[in-house]
Amino acid sequence: MAITRLEIDLEALRHNYQYLRSKLTDGVRMMAVVKAYGYGSEAQAVAIELEKLGVDYFAVAYVSEGVALRDAGVQTPILVLHPQPDNFEEMVERCLEPSIYSARMMELFSAFAKAKNQTNYPIHLKFNTGLNRLGFWESDVSWILDRLHEKNSIKVKSIFSHLVASEDKAEEEFTLNQILSFTNISKELLEGLDYVPFLHQSNTSAIINYPRAQFDCVRSGIGLYGYGNSEEETARLKPVARLKSVISQIHKIAPGESVGYNRAFKASDYMTTATIPIGHADGISRIYGNGVGYMTVQGEKAPIIGNVCMDMTMIDITGIDCKEGDEVEIFGDITGADTLAQNAGTISYELLTAVGQRVKRVVLK
Ligand SMILES: *Cc1c(COP(=O)(O)O)cnc(C)c1O
Repeated sequence: MAITRLEIDLEALRHNYQYLRSKLTDGVRMMAVVKAYGYGSEAQAVAIELEKLGVDYFAVAYVSEGVALRDAGVQTPILVLHPQPDNFEEMVERCLEPSIYSARMMELFSAFAKAKNQTNYPIHLKFNTGLNRLGFWESDVSWILDRLHEKNSIKVKSIFSHLVASEDKAEEEFTLNQILSFTNISKELLEGLDYVPFLHQSNTSAIINYPRAQFDCVRSGIGLYGYGNSEEETARLKPVARLKSVISQIHKIAPGESVGYNRAFKASDYMTTATIPIGHADGISRIYGNGVGYMTVQGEKAPIIGNVCMDMTMIDITGIDCKEGDEVEIFGDITGADTLAQNAGTISYELLTAVGQRVKRVVLK
């Protein structure tokens, strides 16, 4: 198929799931993080496949993402990491389970659940152990326990926290402190409850680097999509998403001619350029212009020349044996999204999730 497309390889997803599962201690559950369209891929197809494989839980960032999964027929429990009070109605209608991270959220949601005649509506208590983003503090535990004892509209299904730098060996001491802090918080909570919520703190890199922090469940995102935040781990995984496009037109240009807006590239020699139908509106940021990024054409590297346009990008194909209509790869098997992102000073997460909704998703079984 010769159009700009993101191929979603479910075989790669199965491989990554099985690999990450193999790293878990017996009995530890797997929560698949499918926020942001499944890290830019195709959340519904990914979730349906993972559900078949027996994943235990899903996590999304927002209610609308959970609704899309329910619309696709997903029945597995779904944790909403960052729900908004305006969406509580839809959240409860679709059996989506909120992360409750502050006193305000706890009061608002328990009142909402009560007004809807809910009893024991599952919630997930989020604790801040160092990220300083969302979460209760350890000092909130006794307040939380008091509130929980007063209310029967909500019930704690799990207790969780998020690591700051699990991929970074240089921050090991900080990470171990986060794990210790989470252990203490959950212990205090469990002592005050007459039932047992499950505990989770690890993201993908922690599954690999801190096996003792797996608790009852892990939350994996990037690893499922094929990136392990280190060369060794990424080598054991397979990229699920492959961004491909096609050569629309080839030009021969002479020394002194320029390519693209603002004449950002000027040819110093005779050269051959190709125009590709993908631009910054599709997630190939202008940062990749002027040689920072490249595409692969007939197995060879073709650097991006000049500025990336909104809908198009020009590459240098001088000396590459190719023709109009040929396929090009932006990232995937040949160049990993992590490698391309690194050239631009960013990370695979950002490049993957930036792929615009204009790019056709093609799911390969
Ligand atoms: C996105 C996210 C994850 C997944 O992290 P990966 O590094 O992609 O495995 C886990 N937990 C929370 C709270 C997140 O926001």
